[in-house]
Amino acid sequence: MSSHDVDDQVVIPGLALEAGLSPKDVKTSFFDAPDIDLSIYDNIIVCMSGGKDSIASLLRILEMGADRDKIELWHHEVDGREGSSLMDWRFMTSYNKALAAAFGFPLYFSWLEGGFEGEMLKNNSYGRPHKVETPDGLITLERDTTRAKPSTRLKFPQVSANLQTRWCSSALKIDVGRRALNNQARFNGKKVLFITGERREESANRARYSQLERHACDRREGRLARHVDAWRPVLAWSEEQVWDIIARHNVISPVPYRLGWGRSSCMKCIFNDATIWATINKYFPGELDALDAYEVSFGTTIRRDKKGIMDVAKMGVPLEITDLAALRQVTQEDYTLPIFCGDGEWVQPAGAFLRTGCGPS
Ligand code: SF4
Repeated sequence: MSSHDVDDQVVIPGLALEAGLSPKDVKTSFFDAPDIDLSIYDNIIVCMSGGKDSIASLLRILEMGADRDKIELWHHEVDGREGSSLMDWRFMTSYNKALAAAFGFPLYFSWLEGGFEGEMLKNNSYGRPHKVETPDGLITLERDTTRAKPSTRLKFPQVSANLQTRWCSSALKIDVGRRALNNQARFNGKKVLFITGERREESANRARYSQLERHACDRREGRLARHVDAWRPVLAWSEEQVWDIIARHNVISPVPYRLGWGRSSCMKCIFNDATIWATINKYFPGELDALDAYEVSFGTTIRRDKKGIMDVAKMGVPLEITDLAALRQVTQEDYTLPIFCGDGEWVQPAGAFLRTGCGPS
């Protein structure tokens, strides 16, 4: 092990702080930090998309002995709560509630008002407010229109590592999470651990992520004394390790994997490949109509090769869905399937280890 590795993996920043070093003297970015001292944190926030990697992240900290009283789950709702169901699985809100209840953790939703569809239809207009559930109730975070300028989108986010081009991840998740952290006084003067489930295996971009670093909302040296670390517990894990921990805890696979999806992203994620679009078109006819209509009205396709979504769906060979309980769940808003199975009953889902193209969450 090199001295760099020792620094990253053995000298844990939390221990350094506990040893009395000033925050400015403590290294705050660690390429590899698979084990950290969870006990130094007052709050542990797990960003719970409802996919396998965020579930694995939660299970990992439970296996590490995290204090359950410090844990809360956050879920960013891609479609918002103003009536749009353009992109995400209809059961996703209910599934996350069921998951949080089954584990016994509080769950706070947050979203951009109007969701994906509202943001996409911005036409010389200001960004809409963010809505954030907190222990004290729902807060509405208005935009500062003295600093922001009106802008226009009127096209789908495009497949790209650049978050300005792939604006859905930043506008609907990252920004929402940042404002939720910045606007809750309960985090001031506290040490907060912000956990997300990215894995290096997923992309060349993610392969470069640090495992532990100062979060963008960290203000540890400032008046707010808000210490926020971003930690990615499963960053270096293989997919096999992810399914192993899920099986070990008898957590039934989330529905998308049971259908054959390789990832649990938005149902109609911009990263979907022809197989997934064809599967949606076959099993849920009409689901792609709104996307098709927007492509026509914008004059811009979701895909960069300028192929329209209906044409791509017709080109692809649909998956054969055999899990009928999962299939029935797709059209329902209420999640009615169990979260846990009994010992010895865990079944690997059809989508495990498949590289069907469905993108980042
Ligand atoms: S899952 Fe896909 S469509 Fe949904 S926010 Fe992420 S990149 Fe965008």
